Amino acid sequence: MHELSGPDEARKTVEYWADEGVTSFKAYTHITHAELKAAIDAAHARRLKVTGHLCSVGFHEAAALGIDNLEHGLLEDTEFVPEKKPDVCPSWEANHAALDQLDIESAPIQHMIHDLVQHHVAVTSTLPVFECGVAYRPPLDRLYRTIDLLASEAALDYRNARSSTAAWSTDKAGEELRKERFWRTFGANLGVRTRTKIPRFCHLQHRDKEATDLLFL
Ligand SMILES: [Zn+2]
Repeated sequence: MHELSGPDEARKTVEYWADEGVTSFKAYTHITHAELKAAIDAAHARRLKVTGHLCSVGFHEAAALGIDNLEHGLLEDTEFVPEKKPDVCPSWEANHAALDQLDIESAPIQHMIHDLVQHHVAVTSTLPVFECGVAYRPPLDRLYRTIDLLASEAALDYRNARSSTAAWSTDKAGEELRKERFWRTFGANLGVRTRTKIPRFCHLQHRDKEATDLLFL
């Protein structure tokens, strides 16, 4: 993936692709604060939208810059990682360790949620993607009839993906629960009740999603 060299290139990239007909942009993990600002300003000047799968920039910062949407939820908000440095994406391990310590009801998380709502920043959950990282979900004996409906190649593909997840996944039940609580709290702040029912064939859906991503910054 191409990496931006600075805010000027971020602006030029948005302007070039907007001229080519692109209507929305997705900022990716290592984008800097200045690059994200330049991209958002250039997109908004043309009434286009920017979403972000962020890491180096926290949700508070992104909301202040005017981002329109955030992808995947709390796991991508690294601002709660201890000793997080500006414009640096913390390690996967540091991020997960910080997530384990988070209390959704605590003041900093509640403040972040209120801030997003106040800035009209939407958040896309992509819970089926996260479900792919949890072993043995759902139990296989509940799936036999559904697997029978798949083409044999797709069924084999699903079983292989499931086995490889089981080989490296640790018990993430607590983490999943925390993520679901985040969505309920976020929804409550918007005045809506959320359901976090997770579609079953996550591995297949993950591929569909990747095929629909438009342009990474
Ligand atoms: Zn993403």
